[in-house]
Amino acid sequence: MNGLGLLFIAAILAIGAQAHATTHPNPLENEALFDTSDVVVHGLVVESRVEADAAGRPVTISTVFPFDVFKGTPGATLTLRQLGGVLPDGRFFVVPGRPEYAPGDEVLVFAVPHPDGDYQTAELSAGRFEVRYDDAGEPFAVSTTPAAVGGRWNNGASATWRIDGLVNIAGGGLAETAGAIAAWNNEPHSDIAYQVIPSGSNTIHLDALTSPCGWTTCISGGGVIGCGGYGGFGSHVWRGEQYSTITHGEMWLRSYCTLGGFDSITTQSVITHELGHTLGLGHPAQDDTRPPDACPGDQGLAIMRSTVQHRLSLGTDDSDAVRWLYGDGGSSCEGDPPSGDVVVLTAPSTPPRGEIAVLRATVTSTVPIRWVKFFVDDPGTGGELLKCTDKSAAFACNYKPTRAGVHRLRARAYTLSGLLAESAVVTMTVQQ
Ligand SMILES: [Zn+2]
Repeated sequence: MNGLGLLFIAAILAIGAQAHATTHPNPLENEALFDTSDVVVHGLVVESRVEADAAGRPVTISTVFPFDVFKGTPGATLTLRQLGGVLPDGRFFVVPGRPEYAPGDEVLVFAVPHPDGDYQTAELSAGRFEVRYDDAGEPFAVSTTPAAVGGRWNNGASATWRIDGLVNIAGGGLAETAGAIAAWNNEPHSDIAYQVIPSGSNTIHLDALTSPCGWTTCISGGGVIGCGGYGGFGSHVWRGEQYSTITHGEMWLRSYCTLGGFDSITTQSVITHELGHTLGLGHPAQDDTRPPDACPGDQGLAIMRSTVQHRLSLGTDDSDAVRWLYGDGGSSCEGDPPSGDVVVLTAPSTPPRGEIAVLRATVTSTVPIRWVKFFVDDPGTGGELLKCTDKSAAFACNYKPTRAGVHRLRARAYTLSGLLAESAVVTMTVQQ
């Protein structure tokens, strides 16, 4: 190892456990990361493209030109295969915590072999460091947080699953898997319908000795214990925001080296966490904008935290996330919204042209509404939204129609966390 290499390794060791804040349960110490990796390279990402793997899943193939090779023999370039990405035809697969490589990135990569050949980053994003330089030109390495993602099933999160392999614990993990699925299905304010059947179309791997998530060995101590992701095609709008449409999911629980290597509660926690990823949930500390978080402060008890939890039930942060994506839009701190029309818009049906018409939105939600926004669907009709009041219980806005014809109007109510509901369209016929 040359002097520069020693600097890099010293730099990442100095970062310590904090460098692994983005990883899954049980962060691996940097020394252990070096030991378990087959290849450690400092280099420049020169290319990144997405192809379909043998199973038809998008896989991102990145080429790293090595400046220094600290371990292993990667060849003239290091080829990394990372599950996930978007194919040219629009099919996508997302693995929260996956490292991203863009051409031009200077990186320090810890890699292990990929089951399909070439290499993959060890331990998801824990094995990728961005290389930076201080004012004196000395290099240092920092871990980076992968970008937030937004995916959602558009079918009520109805999906069938099959089990592949058994956990190396008494009972094989079947009860833990059932418990994990029940935790999501039984969330009282949302509709999730996951089901295990022998011919399920999505797979729960319970004994993955290798995976496309950065491991090629069983786990006996630290390291990534599981990963999960979702794939699909296209997008849809939900509560006013665009989501990638999830059509399938897959999760892997890493093989335990010894019988009972992790206990039943930990096992169920990990399966619950990974299934949460297949529902489109990220890690709360990192992806706190998706879904929006109306009730900060409870992430520490979330099962979706990136470090392994030892609990069977969802935290309030987890519940709020699925209430947003698959439920009533309420939350643990804001309360339950009522059923029925949350926003009712009223407007004069035949106002005179050129005079001010008052639009009113009445909000029946018990969830605090922060503001209401009015929309004119067809601005070509000719009209102008003027002064609005948005702090009172009855939200009102002045609208001045400037052209005769039909004007289509809507109102949207926003909570602190985002859009809660939209009114029905109201039409207004303006006389000549
Ligand atoms: Zn995770």
